[in-house]
Amino acid sequence: MIKFLDLHKLNQPFEAQFLSKTKEVLDKGWYILGEEVNQFEQNFAAFSNAKHCIGVGNGLDALVLILKGYIQLGNLQKGDEVIVPANTYIATVLAILQADLVPVFVEPKIDTYNIDPDLISENINSKTKAILLVHLYGQLAEMDQIMEIGYHHNLLIIEDAAQAHGLNFKGSHTRAFSFYPGKNLGALGDGGGITTNDDKLAEVLLSLRNYGSSKKYYCDFIGVNSRLDELQAAFLNIKLPHLQAENEARKNVAKRYFSEIKNSKIILPTCENIDNHVFHLFVIRTENRNQLQEYLLDNGIETVIHYPIPPHKQKALQEFNHLELPITEKIHREVLSLPISSVLTEEEISHIISTLNSY
Ligand SMILES: *Cc1c(COP(=O)(O)O)cnc(C)c1O
Repeated sequence: MIKFLDLHKLNQPFEAQFLSKTKEVLDKGWYILGEEVNQFEQNFAAFSNAKHCIGVGNGLDALVLILKGYIQLGNLQKGDEVIVPANTYIATVLAILQADLVPVFVEPKIDTYNIDPDLISENINSKTKAILLVHLYGQLAEMDQIMEIGYHHNLLIIEDAAQAHGLNFKGSHTRAFSFYPGKNLGALGDGGGITTNDDKLAEVLLSLRNYGSSKKYYCDFIGVNSRLDELQAAFLNIKLPHLQAENEARKNVAKRYFSEIKNSKIILPTCENIDNHVFHLFVIRTENRNQLQEYLLDNGIETVIHYPIPPHKQKALQEFNHLELPITEKIHREVLSLPISSVLTEEEISHIISTLNSY
């Protein structure tokens, strides 16, 4: 069976380093907000060309804290509207709701799955204060056009980069990352991070993630407890130097899929510039998605659906259930994610391709 993502195989090369680091952290006796987190924040900021990195508990918290940070600084107010792609993982939308802001869903382009910049302006009104964009599946959103719209309407631009570690980003925005085990840079548990060039925001975030406290037992804001822990930071410090090679390997799998999958029943994703994609996921579309998934499984290939239900149709988001977003809904009906990672062998990739071609 070809697993969708073999996390054990992916982490196995780091086993000796993980174990010796674990012993080191254990022996040090300092487990929260210590040297490893500090080091990771420096490493990831440098890697990302950002002035600051703030480690947090997970990717959802990274998004929520950015929004709460901007509220604290007066750039956003409760009830403000935030433009968000309708076609995204639920966390992007939950973050807006958890910060007491209002999501305004914008349809994607069917071929790239990313937000359609041409549809943003018509959704902007006097209450719109930010665009929270997503580089879905690891592909850079159409930044030039989005930044121009943001500039023209004086909107904050925030990026959900939870699927886009190592992407060639554009501009210097504030970005949220997740280090969930299955992401391109994954820990051995939950983890998240925020990169920003905004000194004031960074200062507020350092405090917000830690009870709103910058000095122990003095509380300045209504903060939360969302800290990246020492062990996860230690594992990430070990894995970060290998991220670029991981992304290169993913790109090579994608290149084979693009050039060798040839089946009129299968629609490949559109990617104009392969350098603007880190291939967190390789997502195809087909009319009878469940049938294709079953056929692949029968042939020893595990696939996953990202995602079966769009945010606006989720039970938890009842106030948005009436919305009709046909492109988003079509994508959710038709998508299927193929295995993609550095641990797939050429034989496995060939088997996936030939199986798809004979479907
Ligand atoms: C994974 C993910 C998140 C949330 O990250 P967690 O660490 O699981 O909280 C947010 N947005 C997107 C697009 C994601 O893929």
